[in-house]
Amino acid sequence: MSTQRLFDRIDSVRLQQVTKKYDELFAVEQLDLDLQGGELLILIGPSGSGKTTTLRMINRLIEPDDGVITINDHDIMEFDPVRLRRNIGYVIQDIGLFPHMTIKENIGLVPRLEGWSDQEISDRVKHLLDFVSLPPESFMDRYPGQLSGGQQQRVGLARALAMDPPLLLMDEPFGALDPILRKQLQDEFNVIKQEIGRTILFVTHDIDEAFKLGDRIGIMSDARLIQIGTPEELILHPENELVSDIVDAKRKFKHIDTLRVKDMMSPITDKYLFDAGMTAHEAVNRMTQTNVELAIVLDGSDLVRYVEMADLVQQKHDDVTLWDIARPTPGFSSNDHIASALGKLKDMGESLGVVMEADRPVGLFFLDNVLLKLI
Ligand code: ADP
Ligand code: MG
Repeated sequence: MSTQRLFDRIDSVRLQQVTKKYDELFAVEQLDLDLQGGELLILIGPSGSGKTTTLRMINRLIEPDDGVITINDHDIMEFDPVRLRRNIGYVIQDIGLFPHMTIKENIGLVPRLEGWSDQEISDRVKHLLDFVSLPPESFMDRYPGQLSGGQQQRVGLARALAMDPPLLLMDEPFGALDPILRKQLQDEFNVIKQEIGRTILFVTHDIDEAFKLGDRIGIMSDARLIQIGTPEELILHPENELVSDIVDAKRKFKHIDTLRVKDMMSPITDKYLFDAGMTAHEAVNRMTQTNVELAIVLDGSDLVRYVEMADLVQQKHDDVTLWDIARPTPGFSSNDHIASALGKLKDMGESLGVVMEADRPVGLFFLDNVLLKLI
């Protein structure tokens, strides 16, 4: 493989007094930011506060008017911009896969431009698809239009990782997904984040996402970085009202004994409900069309079961039904106390319960969503 790597690992990414103006308006103003090798740093702040501009200056899609950006103490202006971008993974909300190229061609695009052989590209694409939980044999030759939003988002991540970049920039990658699917992809990303062990700068406007994924969190407002620190530091020592407003959203649920399941459930619509007799294969097709990755399985009895798409796509035999693989889980009523619901989940060793009203599932109750809100 002929790829020229600018850096094998990241020790630091440093922005010093970086400014970007559009006419008289500051998009980013005198920004100092230090990203340490191996960390996942979140940038969070209101819309228009300069997050995207900051990210795009690091891969030189935008040139700053003033200030210096270094990677491992090298000024990035000394690198060829195209070469720089091939060494930095970039994942955005609307990932812009090329519609007339297969998934394999999309992921393999830059490796091909870099002169890799067909075999090398095939191997790499298979590895990456496995990594993002899309079995290569069923996804490589599909076109983007044949994938759900969540699956396309996974392909976007795989494509960003194609050249094995030591630095990843992610701009609200899960922002367009519905809350349940977003949670599933965040969970998955939290796992693969450990495996890839890369330095990541991640933009979001969702404080729960920030606390869930970030090692440190930087808060931006009006083109400036207001405060940066670990979640604990921001909660315990907010520098001003804006910071406490943003982090306090997490702390509004203080009195666990007054809370009911309905206060913390994620509502679901009928698109999450699946018949127990459906085959795994049929269910995956339906999920792809409706952009869900979790099935609540109804079988006419009182038990509630669920299964995730990641388990379904692994099934090799055509006749496996949802009934065969779905896991039983507690059913709650929306008026149940949180403490009792948590107790039931713990007893069953489950991380998710289904909220029922008049024998119909109406919501999901995720253990870690609740714990995250209570700390
Ligand atoms: P965020 O990602 O935090 O929502 P952006 O970095 O996209 O914010 O934008 C910061 C500010 O710069 C906003 O006021 C935006 O309107 C302005 N801005 C961004 N790009 C341009 C552009 N190409 N031309 C003019 N103004 C821009
Ligand atoms: Mg933005």
